[in-house]
Amino acid sequence: MNNSNYFFKCSICEFRTCPSSDKLNCPDCHSPFDVNYISLEDAKIKLNSIKIPLPINSASIVSLGEGNTPTIKLDNLSDKLEIKLSTKLEYFNPTGSFKDRGSSIMISCLKKAGIKEIAEDSSGNAGASISAYSSKAQIRSHIFAPSSAPTAKINQIKVYGANTYLVEGPRDQATIEAITFAENHGVTYASHNLSPYFIEGTKIFGYEIFRDFYDSENFPEHIILPVGNGSLFLGVLKSFHELFLDNKIHKIPKIHAVQTESIQPIYSTIFKTDWNPVNQTKTIAGGIAVATPPRLNQIVKELQQNDGTCEIVSEKEIIEWQLALANQEGLYIEPTSAAAFAGISKLIESKVIQKGASVLIPSTGIGLKDLSPI
Ligand SMILES: [Zn+2]
Repeated sequence: MNNSNYFFKCSICEFRTCPSSDKLNCPDCHSPFDVNYISLEDAKIKLNSIKIPLPINSASIVSLGEGNTPTIKLDNLSDKLEIKLSTKLEYFNPTGSFKDRGSSIMISCLKKAGIKEIAEDSSGNAGASISAYSSKAQIRSHIFAPSSAPTAKINQIKVYGANTYLVEGPRDQATIEAITFAENHGVTYASHNLSPYFIEGTKIFGYEIFRDFYDSENFPEHIILPVGNGSLFLGVLKSFHELFLDNKIHKIPKIHAVQTESIQPIYSTIFKTDWNPVNQTKTIAGGIAVATPPRLNQIVKELQQNDGTCEIVSEKEIIEWQLALANQEGLYIEPTSAAAFAGISKLIESKVIQKGASVLIPSTGIGLKDLSPI
């Protein structure tokens, strides 16, 4: 098929094809692709050493020092909630969010393919991250962001050097403009939501969880994630599947998704609510303000196959939990990340999470880029 150690496979049907940076959708069912490895013999983790199957050689990786983020226990909240709660501090990544994991691998693969110019759309964090990694790789980038994105995020995109375009209307309008621009200018559309390479970077988060908790009695039974386009959610599950976790000493944690009451495409698909994208309203959780995620079917399928569930939270609950993390644990996280924490009381209430359970929630992004909650 080709000389690489992987191929593209449709995320929904059985279609397979040779990898290429301009292939984003399956010709049969129009779903996005995933990277599949010819052999997974390489997926091995020993304590303090990590060997991960990737679509690029380590020598060719464009890196700004992402990954290997610390994990800490949240003792005060654990006592209050009667669970064992910990967080992985993803805002320690170079541009302040977990997106750097995906950008590093995606930009590395595009650079290797000889791509010199890309277009992308983002609510802020991914745009800043792709702007930074494009500069490092000497790729020209065009980032389309909703005009409602926080000023600090837009400034960050500009500082790294991307041509920045502010788009009026909902988040999804920025996607439409980025695709149109790419088509009209013959530029590669490097969507972090569609590119199979982005998930290959975010999956490293899951490998690190396995490495960090490998011989711990607190191996997470549940992971709760804020889910918009699902790049972290799908990446984490992919890592656990590649590690064949269920055949080893640890079971795959149940991975739950949290969305907002105002924008809830995954929740609404699962629980058949009467919400639909036209009646979306604003949310302060900009990172999950995605009304029509391109990988929606894949996310719902994976959630259900892995016994995860979805919760929705209100704007008030998001702010309360953002403040609780700050004034009870000393962590200033972004509202998108606080949404996942806000989901926890509901999951305890509905008995999805039992007393004493080990639960991990990533602190996906730093609070400093959004408006202050007080
Ligand atoms: Zn397909």
